[in-house]
Amino acid sequence: MMEGILKVVKDKDPNEKEFHQAVGEVVESIGPVLDRNPEYRKSKILERLVEPDRVILFRVPWMDDRGEIHVNRGFRVQMNNAIGPYKGGLRFHPSVNLGILKFLAFEQVFKNSLTTLPMGGGKGGSDFDPKGKSDSEVMRFCQSFMCELFRYIGPDMDVPAGDIGVGAREIGYLFGMYKKLTNEFNGVLTGKNLKWGGSLVRPEATGYGSVYFASEMLATRNKTLDSKICLVSGSGNVAQFTVEKLLDFNARVVTLSDSSGYIFDEEGIDREKLAFIKRLKNVKRGRIKEYADQYPNAIYTPVDPALDHNPLWNHKADCAFPSATQNEINEKDARNLVQNGVEMVCEGANMPTVPKGVDLFLGSHILYGPGKAANAGGVSVSGLEMTQNSMRISWTREEVDQRLKMIMHSIHRTCLDAAAAYGVPGNYVRGANIAGFVKVVEAMMDQGLV
Ligand code: NDP
Repeated sequence: MMEGILKVVKDKDPNEKEFHQAVGEVVESIGPVLDRNPEYRKSKILERLVEPDRVILFRVPWMDDRGEIHVNRGFRVQMNNAIGPYKGGLRFHPSVNLGILKFLAFEQVFKNSLTTLPMGGGKGGSDFDPKGKSDSEVMRFCQSFMCELFRYIGPDMDVPAGDIGVGAREIGYLFGMYKKLTNEFNGVLTGKNLKWGGSLVRPEATGYGSVYFASEMLATRNKTLDSKICLVSGSGNVAQFTVEKLLDFNARVVTLSDSSGYIFDEEGIDREKLAFIKRLKNVKRGRIKEYADQYPNAIYTPVDPALDHNPLWNHKADCAFPSATQNEINEKDARNLVQNGVEMVCEGANMPTVPKGVDLFLGSHILYGPGKAANAGGVSVSGLEMTQNSMRISWTREEVDQRLKMIMHSIHRTCLDAAAAYGVPGNYVRGANIAGFVKVVEAMMDQGLV
């Protein structure tokens, strides 16, 4: 029956391979839950979960600085709002398509359920590429995108945030146009600037949360992050704040990357080097290669499409924090990590490991924290931003950070408890899927066939 669902999903939309992958992983985990609760099968819960509540697809026309017109595609996938308004980021990247956004929205449903906060799941974005565009081009694009999206979002309906290619700058432009069109100032977007409704610690939250989760995982084996050598991929929002928090825990980070290549710095990326990266990526919008120009001891390796693996994952290290994008760790990368003696893989990115890589991690009994649980800190603090907006108050940095820590602790505990209850102790993948699933499904059962 479970395979049946996956087959139906594949037959309906044969090109959405990332979505098939995400559904396949959840379906594999929740068999025992369905066996214990036959009413879920009768209510066709799985069939309902894999079909988005709705998908909005629209044209985004915009004009570049030379007066040339471009047309991109905009999307919003509203996946499930059984436990709260749709919530999930917007991604601007040329690779964006419906299958990728459906996978992200599907994952988001379970992730948001784990956070303990009342948020449903959604995701959106565009195949627009912000790289190399001027601020005014990005602004015009964001304005055009919002001219259509504003009809479908609202603080009690659907609350988008950032993701790849959407940071503070884009959220500002999007919010400006939403406000103009609706004449309302409300909490419709999270990741806003602090000066006009944002939350302290939101930019840091995904990276910090991932490191808190890693530290919880290590604690189950009476270990800490102190002096651990860590591989981090990406150099955007999640990667930067993962490095920052790892430094607080006295770990040594030796890699960072972007889509062109990666740097290896054996001495470790310290606070001064991290400040350089933040300027390089967030202000100059430069490439990671420039790190090796600035710090000649570091080695830059460009991406080699002919290689069957990513050499970043072939350095000897204790911990790995994939924080760039989906499927960035292939089977060979996973094998390299395990063979080099990695103790823990903690996913800052969404679904960064291919299914065979996940099997390898689980089979080798390393600590493996799937993105759904490990990177939930970002959406958690987005949830806290929504609360602060509704209450018209701002919590201090310490208050938000403390809540983030508590939420990551609770997610970690919930995963372990669910895994143990279903006979797979220590399996965070099963634990996250089962716990996330049960809460959403109970709400769906209570709310009837809608
Ligand atoms: P950013 O846009 O800030 O950074 C993304 C980084 O990953 C950049 O260094 C980018 O390099 C690299 N990257 C993107 N696509 C690819 C690719 N196809 N191949 C290689 N490298 C790539 O995004 P975030 O840091 O916000 O997001 C990173 C990951 O974390 C994503 O999987 C996202 O879904 C996930 N995530 C983010 C959250 C958040 O709060 N921001 C919350 C939870 C999960 P380049 O500059 O060359 O494109």
